[in-house]
Amino acid sequence: MGNDNNKKVSLTNRVSSAKSAPQKNAPAKKSGAAVNLGQRTAQKAAAAAKKKKRKNAPVGKYIMYSMMALLIVLCVVLVLVVMPFIRDLFGNKGSTLPQIPQDDLIGYVQSDNENVSYYVVGLFGEDLTVQMDALSIVCYDKKAGTVDVLQVPTDTYLNGDGGWAEGVRKIGNLWANPKPLVWCTECGKQVFEAEINDKSHSVCGSLLTTQVGSSQTDLMRAFNQEYSLPVDNYYLFQRGSLKETIDYIGGLDIVLPEEITLGETEYPAGKQTLDGEAVLEYLTYTGESVSGDVKHQIDTRVVWVALFDRMAKWDVEDLYEDVISNVQAWDNPIKMQRIGDYWETDAMELCELIVEMGKLDRKNFTFHMMPGEASQSGGVTYYSVHKEALTALLQAEFNPYGDEISTEDLMAEELSNTTESDTHPETFAALAVEQSGEVTEEDE
Ligand SMILES: [Zn+2]
Repeated sequence: MGNDNNKKVSLTNRVSSAKSAPQKNAPAKKSGAAVNLGQRTAQKAAAAAKKKKRKNAPVGKYIMYSMMALLIVLCVVLVLVVMPFIRDLFGNKGSTLPQIPQDDLIGYVQSDNENVSYYVVGLFGEDLTVQMDALSIVCYDKKAGTVDVLQVPTDTYLNGDGGWAEGVRKIGNLWANPKPLVWCTECGKQVFEAEINDKSHSVCGSLLTTQVGSSQTDLMRAFNQEYSLPVDNYYLFQRGSLKETIDYIGGLDIVLPEEITLGETEYPAGKQTLDGEAVLEYLTYTGESVSGDVKHQIDTRVVWVALFDRMAKWDVEDLYEDVISNVQAWDNPIKMQRIGDYWETDAMELCELIVEMGKLDRKNFTFHMMPGEASQSGGVTYYSVHKEALTALLQAEFNPYGDEISTEDLMAEELSNTTESDTHPETFAALAVEQSGEVTEEDE
Protein backbone atom coordinates (compact mmCIF):
# COMPACT_ATOMS: atom_id res chain seq x y z
CA MET A 1 0.00 0.00 0.00
CA GLY A 2 2.95 2.30 0.65
CA ASN A 3 3.97 1.79 -2.94
CA ASP A 4 0.42 2.54 -4.04
CA ASN A 5 0.44 5.86 -2.21
CA ASN A 6 3.78 6.82 -3.72
CA LYS A 7 2.47 6.18 -7.22
CA LYS A 8 -0.58 8.25 -6.57
CA VAL A 9 1.47 11.09 -5.18
CA SER A 10 3.80 10.82 -8.16
CA LEU A 11 0.91 11.15 -10.62
CA THR A 12 -0.59 13.88 -8.48
CA ASN A 13 2.68 15.75 -8.78
CA ARG A 14 2.87 15.15 -12.52
CA VAL A 15 -0.66 16.27 -13.24
CA SER A 16 -1.20 18.33 -10.07
CA SER A 17 -4.35 18.25 -8.00
CA ALA A 18 -7.73 16.97 -9.07
CA LYS A 19 -10.58 19.14 -10.13
CA SER A 20 -13.66 19.10 -7.97
CA ALA A 21 -16.24 16.44 -8.63
CA PRO A 22 -19.56 18.02 -9.49
CA GLN A 23 -21.77 15.11 -8.39
CA LYS A 24 -20.31 15.36 -4.95
CA ASN A 25 -21.88 18.75 -4.54
CA ALA A 26 -25.29 17.20 -4.84
CA PRO A 27 -25.77 16.25 -1.20
CA ALA A 28 -24.58 19.68 -0.07
CA LYS A 29 -27.01 21.37 -2.41
CA LYS A 30 -29.81 19.15 -1.24
CA SER A 31 -29.13 19.83 2.42
CA GLY A 32 -29.36 23.52 1.43
CA ALA A 33 -32.77 22.75 0.02
CA ALA A 34 -33.65 21.00 3.25
CA VAL A 35 -32.76 24.14 5.17
CA ASN A 36 -34.96 26.21 2.86
CA LEU A 37 -37.76 23.75 3.28
CA GLY A 38 -37.30 23.93 7.05
CA GLN A 39 -37.33 27.74 6.97
CA ARG A 40 -40.43 27.75 4.85
CA THR A 41 -42.16 25.38 7.25
CA ALA A 42 -41.17 27.60 10.15
CA GLN A 43 -42.42 30.73 8.36
CA LYS A 44 -45.71 29.06 7.58
CA ALA A 45 -46.11 27.99 11.18
CA ALA A 46 -45.26 31.49 12.34
CA ALA A 47 -47.65 33.06 9.84
CA ALA A 48 -50.44 30.70 10.89
CA ALA A 49 -49.77 31.46 14.52
CA LYS A 50 -49.77 35.23 13.82
CA LYS A 51 -53.10 34.98 12.03
CA LYS A 52 -54.62 33.10 14.93
CA LYS A 53 -53.12 35.52 17.40
CA ARG A 54 -54.64 38.51 15.66
CA LYS A 55 -58.02 36.86 15.37
CA ASN A 56 -58.03 35.93 19.04
CA ALA A 57 -56.48 39.10 20.40
CA PRO A 58 -59.71 40.55 21.81
CA VAL A 59 -60.29 37.44 23.93
CA GLY A 60 -57.45 38.42 26.17
CA LYS A 61 -53.91 37.97 27.36
CA TYR A 62 -54.41 34.39 28.47
CA ILE A 63 -55.07 33.13 24.94
CA MET A 64 -52.24 35.23 23.55
CA TYR A 65 -49.79 33.69 25.99
CA SER A 66 -50.99 30.18 25.27
CA MET A 67 -50.63 30.83 21.53
CA MET A 68 -47.07 32.03 22.11
CA ALA A 69 -46.37 28.93 24.18
CA LEU A 70 -47.80 26.79 21.38
CA LEU A 71 -45.59 28.61 18.89
CA ILE A 72 -42.54 27.92 21.03
CA VAL A 73 -43.52 24.26 21.33
CA LEU A 74 -43.99 24.13 17.56
CA CYS A 75 -40.53 25.62 17.01
CA VAL A 76 -38.97 23.12 19.41
CA VAL A 77 -40.76 20.25 17.67
CA LEU A 78 -39.60 21.60 14.31
CA VAL A 79 -35.98 21.77 15.42
CA LEU A 80 -35.88 18.49 17.31
CA VAL A 81 -38.11 16.25 15.22
CA VAL A 82 -38.79 17.62 11.77
CA MET A 83 -35.33 18.97 10.87
CA PRO A 84 -33.41 15.72 11.56
CA PHE A 85 -36.12 13.88 9.65
CA ILE A 86 -35.75 16.18 6.65
CA ARG A 87 -31.98 15.92 6.86
CA ASP A 88 -32.18 12.13 6.95
CA LEU A 89 -34.53 12.23 4.00
CA PHE A 90 -31.95 13.99 1.86
CA GLY A 91 -28.91 12.35 3.39
CA ASN A 92 -26.83 14.33 5.84
CA LYS A 93 -23.45 13.51 4.30
CA GLY A 94 -23.26 17.02 2.89
CA SER A 95 -22.35 18.47 6.24
CA THR A 96 -19.22 16.28 6.53
CA LEU A 97 -18.08 16.60 2.91
CA PRO A 98 -16.00 19.79 3.01
CA GLN A 99 -13.60 18.24 5.53
CA ILE A 100 -12.48 15.57 3.06
CA PRO A 101 -10.00 16.61 0.35
CA GLN A 102 -11.58 16.67 -3.12
CA ASP A 103 -8.95 14.26 -4.35
CA ASP A 104 -10.30 11.53 -2.08
CA LEU A 105 -13.88 12.28 -3.02
CA ILE A 106 -13.62 11.66 -6.72
CA GLY A 107 -11.14 8.89 -6.07
CA TYR A 108 -8.99 9.43 -9.13
CA VAL A 109 -6.82 12.12 -10.63
CA GLN A 110 -8.04 14.41 -13.41
CA SER A 111 -6.07 16.53 -15.85
CA ASP A 112 -5.11 19.98 -14.59
CA ASN A 113 -4.16 21.33 -18.02
CA GLU A 114 -6.95 22.95 -20.00
CA ASN A 115 -5.27 22.10 -23.32
CA VAL A 116 -5.63 18.36 -22.90
CA SER A 117 -8.39 16.01 -21.74
CA TYR A 118 -8.48 12.27 -21.18
CA TYR A 119 -11.53 10.07 -21.60
CA VAL A 120 -11.90 6.38 -20.93
CA VAL A 121 -14.11 4.78 -23.57
CA GLY A 122 -15.22 1.17 -23.49
CA LEU A 123 -17.81 -1.51 -23.94
CA PHE A 124 -19.21 -3.71 -21.21
CA GLY A 125 -19.67 -7.45 -21.62
CA GLU A 126 -23.00 -9.26 -21.47
CA ASP A 127 -23.85 -7.28 -18.34
CA LEU A 128 -22.12 -5.24 -15.63
CA THR A 129 -21.05 -8.27 -13.58
CA VAL A 130 -18.68 -9.83 -16.12
CA GLN A 131 -15.38 -8.85 -17.74
CA MET A 132 -15.60 -5.87 -20.08
CA ASP A 133 -15.27 -6.37 -23.84
CA ALA A 134 -13.23 -3.32 -24.76
CA LEU A 135 -11.35 -0.52 -23.02
CA SER A 136 -9.39 2.45 -24.25
CA ILE A 137 -8.24 5.86 -23.15
CA VAL A 138 -8.53 8.84 -25.47
CA CYS A 139 -6.10 11.73 -25.19
CA TYR A 140 -7.52 14.87 -26.80
CA ASP A 141 -4.94 17.61 -27.29
CA LYS A 142 -7.17 20.61 -27.96
CA LYS A 143 -4.33 22.98 -28.70
CA ALA A 144 -2.65 20.73 -31.27
CA GLY A 145 -5.94 19.35 -32.60
CA THR A 146 -4.82 15.75 -32.22
CA VAL A 147 -6.54 12.70 -30.75
CA ASP A 148 -4.72 9.54 -29.67
CA VAL A 149 -6.48 6.37 -28.58
CA LEU A 150 -4.71 3.73 -26.50
CA GLN A 151 -6.52 0.40 -26.70
CA VAL A 152 -6.08 -1.58 -23.50
CA PRO A 153 -6.93 -5.29 -23.77
CA THR A 154 -9.35 -6.12 -20.95
CA ASP A 155 -7.07 -9.05 -19.97
CA THR A 156 -4.27 -6.60 -19.17
CA TYR A 157 -2.48 -7.60 -15.98
CA LEU A 158 -2.74 -5.33 -12.92
CA ASN A 159 -0.07 -4.81 -10.28
CA GLY A 160 -1.10 -6.76 -7.18
CA ASP A 161 -0.22 -3.83 -4.90
CA GLY A 162 -2.75 -1.59 -6.59
CA GLY A 163 -5.37 -1.81 -3.88
CA TRP A 164 -7.87 -3.76 -5.98
CA ALA A 165 -10.53 -6.12 -4.68
CA GLU A 166 -9.32 -9.56 -3.62
CA GLY A 167 -8.26 -11.67 -6.61
CA VAL A 168 -8.85 -9.03 -9.29
CA ARG A 169 -5.84 -8.89 -11.59
CA LYS A 170 -7.35 -7.96 -14.98
CA ILE A 171 -8.26 -4.38 -15.82
CA GLY A 172 -11.49 -5.51 -17.48
CA ASN A 173 -12.73 -6.99 -14.18
CA LEU A 174 -12.40 -3.86 -12.07
CA TRP A 175 -15.84 -2.41 -12.79
CA ALA A 176 -17.62 -5.63 -11.89
CA ASN A 177 -15.57 -6.10 -8.70
CA PRO A 178 -15.00 -2.82 -6.88
CA LYS A 179 -12.95 -3.08 -3.72
CA PRO A 180 -15.25 -2.93 -0.66
CA LEU A 181 -14.84 0.24 1.42
CA VAL A 182 -14.07 0.23 5.15
CA TRP A 183 -17.03 2.12 6.59
CA CYS A 184 -18.11 3.71 9.86
CA THR A 185 -21.88 3.55 10.22
CA GLU A 186 -21.76 5.90 13.20
CA CYS A 187 -19.97 8.67 11.27
CA GLY A 188 -21.58 7.71 7.96
CA LYS A 189 -18.35 7.78 5.97
CA GLN A 190 -15.46 5.83 4.52
CA VAL A 191 -12.55 5.34 6.91
CA PHE A 192 -8.91 5.29 5.80
CA GLU A 193 -5.84 3.57 7.27
CA ALA A 194 -4.90 6.46 9.58
CA GLU A 195 -8.20 6.31 11.50
CA ILE A 196 -8.39 2.54 11.85
CA ASN A 197 -7.60 1.24 15.33
CA ASP A 198 -7.80 -2.55 15.33
CA LYS A 199 -11.32 -3.06 13.94
CA SER A 200 -12.69 0.23 15.23
CA HIS A 201 -12.88 3.83 14.05
CA SER A 202 -10.37 5.71 16.21
CA VAL A 203 -12.46 8.89 15.99
CA CYS A 204 -15.69 7.53 17.46
CA GLY A 205 -14.76 4.06 18.73
CA SER A 206 -17.44 2.28 16.68
CA LEU A 207 -16.82 -1.08 15.08
CA LEU A 208 -16.06 -0.69 11.38
CA THR A 209 -18.11 -2.36 8.64
CA THR A 210 -17.67 -2.70 4.90
CA GLN A 211 -19.69 -1.17 2.07
CA VAL A 212 -19.82 -1.79 -1.65
CA GLY A 213 -16.95 0.09 -3.25
CA SER A 214 -16.89 2.35 -6.30
CA SER A 215 -16.52 0.76 -9.73
CA GLN A 216 -15.71 4.08 -11.35
CA THR A 217 -13.04 4.93 -8.79
CA ASP A 218 -11.29 1.59 -9.14
CA LEU A 219 -11.30 1.53 -12.94
CA MET A 220 -10.21 5.15 -13.40
CA ARG A 221 -7.60 4.77 -10.65
CA ALA A 222 -6.13 1.93 -12.70
CA PHE A 223 -5.39 4.35 -15.56
CA ASN A 224 -3.87 6.80 -13.03
CA GLN A 225 -1.68 4.24 -11.31
CA GLU A 226 -0.80 1.69 -13.98
CA TYR A 227 -0.19 4.15 -16.86
CA SER A 228 0.25 7.47 -15.03
CA LEU A 229 -2.59 9.05 -17.02
CA PRO A 230 -5.29 11.34 -15.62
CA VAL A 231 -8.96 10.68 -16.43
CA ASP A 232 -11.41 13.56 -16.90
CA ASN A 233 -14.53 11.57 -17.72
CA TYR A 234 -15.55 8.23 -19.13
CA TYR A 235 -18.06 6.95 -21.66
CA LEU A 236 -18.69 3.27 -21.16
CA PHE A 237 -21.30 1.67 -23.40
CA GLN A 238 -23.52 -1.07 -22.13
CA ARG A 239 -24.45 -3.31 -25.05
CA GLY A 240 -28.01 -1.99 -25.02
CA SER A 241 -26.87 1.64 -25.08
CA LEU A 242 -24.52 1.02 -28.01
CA LYS A 243 -27.28 -0.67 -30.00
CA GLU A 244 -29.71 2.16 -29.23
CA THR A 245 -27.16 4.85 -30.10
CA ILE A 246 -26.43 3.26 -33.48
CA ASP A 247 -30.12 2.88 -34.28
CA TYR A 248 -30.86 6.50 -33.35
CA ILE A 249 -28.08 7.78 -35.64
CA GLY A 250 -29.25 5.63 -38.55
CA GLY A 251 -26.79 2.72 -38.51
CA LEU A 252 -23.11 2.54 -39.40
CA ASP A 253 -21.44 2.09 -42.77
CA ILE A 254 -18.83 -0.64 -42.45
CA VAL A 255 -16.77 -2.33 -45.16
CA LEU A 256 -17.12 -6.06 -44.53
CA PRO A 257 -14.05 -8.05 -45.56
CA GLU A 258 -16.18 -11.09 -46.33
CA GLU A 259 -19.78 -12.28 -46.41
CA ILE A 260 -21.15 -12.51 -42.89
CA THR A 261 -24.39 -13.42 -41.15
CA LEU A 262 -25.27 -11.04 -38.35
CA GLY A 263 -28.50 -11.76 -36.49
CA GLU A 264 -30.97 -12.98 -39.11
CA THR A 265 -29.42 -11.04 -41.95
CA GLU A 266 -26.79 -12.17 -44.44
CA TYR A 267 -24.50 -9.35 -45.48
CA PRO A 268 -22.36 -9.66 -48.61
CA ALA A 269 -18.74 -8.48 -48.55
CA GLY A 270 -18.20 -4.77 -49.19
CA LYS A 271 -19.67 -1.58 -47.81
CA GLN A 272 -22.87 -2.23 -45.84
CA THR A 273 -25.03 -0.15 -43.54
CA LEU A 274 -25.48 -2.14 -40.34
CA ASP A 275 -28.13 -1.51 -37.70
CA GLY A 276 -27.37 -1.53 -33.97
CA GLU A 277 -27.93 -5.22 -33.47
CA ALA A 278 -25.71 -6.23 -36.39
CA VAL A 279 -22.93 -3.88 -35.27
CA LEU A 280 -23.12 -5.27 -31.76
CA GLU A 281 -22.80 -8.80 -33.04
CA TYR A 282 -19.91 -7.79 -35.29
CA LEU A 283 -18.21 -6.03 -32.38
CA THR A 284 -18.76 -8.60 -29.65
CA TYR A 285 -17.52 -11.65 -31.49
CA THR A 286 -15.20 -12.87 -28.74
CA GLY A 287 -11.67 -13.84 -29.60
CA GLU A 288 -10.82 -17.27 -28.22
CA SER A 289 -7.48 -16.21 -26.79
CA VAL A 290 -5.80 -13.12 -25.44
CA SER A 291 -3.91 -12.59 -28.71
CA GLY A 292 -7.15 -13.33 -30.59
CA ASP A 293 -8.79 -10.54 -28.64
CA VAL A 294 -5.97 -8.12 -29.50
CA LYS A 295 -6.41 -8.89 -33.21
CA HIS A 296 -10.17 -8.48 -32.80
CA GLN A 297 -9.75 -5.09 -31.12
CA ILE A 298 -7.59 -3.93 -34.03
CA ASP A 299 -10.04 -5.34 -36.61
CA THR A 300 -12.99 -3.56 -35.04
CA ARG A 301 -11.42 -0.12 -34.98
CA VAL A 302 -13.50 0.59 -38.09
CA VAL A 303 -16.66 0.35 -35.97
CA TRP A 304 -15.52 3.03 -33.51
CA VAL A 305 -14.41 5.29 -36.36
CA ALA A 306 -17.78 4.86 -38.09
CA LEU A 307 -19.64 5.52 -34.84
CA PHE A 308 -17.62 8.67 -34.22
CA ASP A 309 -17.98 9.95 -37.80
CA ARG A 310 -21.75 9.36 -37.82
CA MET A 311 -22.28 11.16 -34.53
CA ALA A 312 -19.99 14.01 -35.53
CA LYS A 313 -22.26 14.78 -38.50
CA TRP A 314 -25.06 15.88 -36.17
CA ASP A 315 -25.34 19.28 -34.60
CA VAL A 316 -24.98 19.40 -30.84
CA GLU A 317 -28.61 20.06 -29.92
CA ASP A 318 -30.02 17.35 -32.19
CA LEU A 319 -27.41 14.83 -31.07
CA TYR A 320 -28.41 15.57 -27.50
CA GLU A 321 -32.19 15.71 -28.01
CA ASP A 322 -32.68 12.94 -30.55
CA VAL A 323 -29.88 10.53 -29.67
CA ILE A 324 -28.01 10.69 -26.36
CA SER A 325 -30.79 11.86 -24.03
CA ASN A 326 -33.01 9.11 -25.46
CA VAL A 327 -30.31 6.50 -24.89
CA GLN A 328 -29.79 7.74 -21.33
CA ALA A 329 -33.50 7.40 -20.60
CA TRP A 330 -33.34 3.63 -21.24
CA ASP A 331 -32.47 0.90 -18.78
CA ASN A 332 -28.86 0.57 -19.96
CA PRO A 333 -27.48 4.10 -20.26
CA ILE A 334 -23.94 4.96 -21.30
CA LYS A 335 -22.03 5.12 -18.01
CA MET A 336 -20.54 8.56 -17.40
CA GLN A 337 -18.97 10.24 -14.41
CA ARG A 338 -21.84 12.36 -13.14
CA ILE A 339 -24.85 10.60 -11.73
CA GLY A 340 -28.23 11.55 -10.33
CA ASP A 341 -29.54 14.91 -11.49
CA TYR A 342 -26.23 15.69 -13.14
CA TRP A 343 -26.27 13.15 -15.95
CA GLU A 344 -27.56 15.78 -18.36
CA THR A 345 -24.38 17.82 -17.93
CA ASP A 346 -22.25 14.87 -18.96
CA ALA A 347 -24.56 13.89 -21.81
CA MET A 348 -24.42 17.44 -23.19
CA GLU A 349 -20.65 17.59 -22.77
CA LEU A 350 -20.30 14.34 -24.70
CA CYS A 351 -22.35 15.76 -27.59
CA GLU A 352 -20.31 18.97 -27.61
CA LEU A 353 -17.08 16.99 -27.46
CA ILE A 354 -17.99 14.76 -30.41
CA VAL A 355 -19.10 17.64 -32.61
CA GLU A 356 -16.04 19.73 -31.66
CA MET A 357 -13.64 16.87 -32.33
CA GLY A 358 -15.56 16.08 -35.50
CA LYS A 359 -14.25 19.30 -37.06
CA LEU A 360 -10.64 18.08 -36.81
CA ASP A 361 -8.65 16.36 -39.54
CA ARG A 362 -8.99 12.58 -39.18
CA LYS A 363 -5.31 12.24 -40.18
CA ASN A 364 -4.57 13.56 -36.68
CA PHE A 365 -6.57 10.82 -34.94
CA THR A 366 -4.50 7.74 -34.18
CA PHE A 367 -5.21 4.34 -32.67
CA HIS A 368 -2.43 2.58 -30.74
CA MET A 369 -2.60 -0.94 -29.32
CA MET A 370 -1.13 -1.35 -25.86
CA PRO A 371 2.41 -2.68 -26.43
CA GLY A 372 2.65 -6.12 -24.84
CA GLU A 373 2.00 -9.81 -25.24
CA ALA A 374 -0.08 -12.69 -23.90
CA SER A 375 1.51 -14.13 -20.77
CA GLN A 376 0.81 -16.78 -18.13
CA SER A 377 0.81 -16.27 -14.38
CA GLY A 378 -0.59 -18.72 -11.84
CA GLY A 379 -2.27 -20.72 -14.59
CA VAL A 380 -4.19 -17.68 -15.91
CA THR A 381 -3.49 -16.01 -19.24
CA TYR A 382 -3.11 -12.26 -19.06
CA TYR A 383 -1.97 -9.55 -21.39
CA SER A 384 1.33 -8.23 -20.08
CA VAL A 385 2.41 -4.73 -21.02
CA HIS A 386 5.87 -4.09 -22.42
CA LYS A 387 6.80 -1.46 -19.95
CA GLU A 388 9.55 0.40 -21.78
CA ALA A 389 7.66 0.52 -25.04
CA LEU A 390 4.58 1.71 -23.17
CA THR A 391 6.54 4.44 -21.40
CA ALA A 392 7.90 5.65 -24.74
CA LEU A 393 4.42 5.60 -26.32
CA LEU A 394 2.83 7.47 -23.41
CA GLN A 395 5.54 10.10 -23.43
CA ALA A 396 5.38 10.57 -27.21
CA GLU A 397 1.61 10.57 -27.80
CA PHE A 398 -0.29 10.83 -24.51
CA ASN A 399 1.56 13.43 -22.49
CA PRO A 400 1.75 16.69 -24.44
CA TYR A 401 2.02 19.08 -21.46
CA GLY A 402 2.86 17.09 -18.33
CA ASP A 403 6.20 16.32 -16.71
CA GLU A 404 8.10 13.54 -18.45
CA ILE A 405 6.80 10.04 -17.78
CA SER A 406 9.42 7.49 -16.74
CA THR A 407 8.99 3.73 -16.25
CA GLU A 408 9.06 4.37 -12.47
CA ASP A 409 5.85 6.39 -12.81
CA LEU A 410 4.00 3.36 -14.16
CA MET A 411 2.77 0.88 -11.62
CA ALA A 412 2.02 -1.53 -14.48
CA GLU A 413 3.91 -4.78 -14.02
CA GLU A 414 5.61 -6.63 -16.88
CA LEU A 415 5.07 -10.40 -16.76
CA SER A 416 7.07 -11.16 -19.87
CA ASN A 417 8.73 -9.47 -22.81
CA THR A 418 9.60 -11.94 -25.53
CA THR A 419 8.10 -10.42 -28.68
CA GLU A 420 8.55 -7.20 -30.53
CA SER A 421 6.18 -4.45 -29.38
CA ASP A 422 3.67 -3.64 -32.10
CA THR A 423 1.20 -0.87 -31.32
CA HIS A 424 -0.24 -1.19 -34.84
CA PRO A 425 -0.82 2.56 -35.28
CA GLU A 426 -3.58 3.54 -37.70
CA THR A 427 -5.21 6.90 -38.33
CA PHE A 428 -8.97 7.40 -38.42
CA ALA A 429 -8.44 8.73 -41.95
CA ALA A 430 -7.10 5.33 -43.03
CA LEU A 431 -10.08 3.53 -41.50
CA ALA A 432 -12.90 5.95 -42.36
CA VAL A 433 -15.76 5.10 -44.71
CA GLU A 434 -18.19 7.72 -46.02
CA GLN A 435 -21.12 7.56 -43.59
CA SER A 436 -24.04 8.04 -45.97
CA GLY A 437 -25.94 4.75 -46.20
CA GLU A 438 -29.36 4.06 -44.77
CA VAL A 439 -30.31 0.95 -42.87
CA THR A 440 -32.37 -1.37 -45.08
CA GLU A 441 -35.69 -2.03 -43.43
CA GLU A 442 -36.16 -5.77 -43.16
CA ASP A 443 -39.35 -7.33 -44.49
CA GLU A 444 -41.12 -8.78 -41.52
ZN1 LIG B 1 -16.85 6.74 13.28
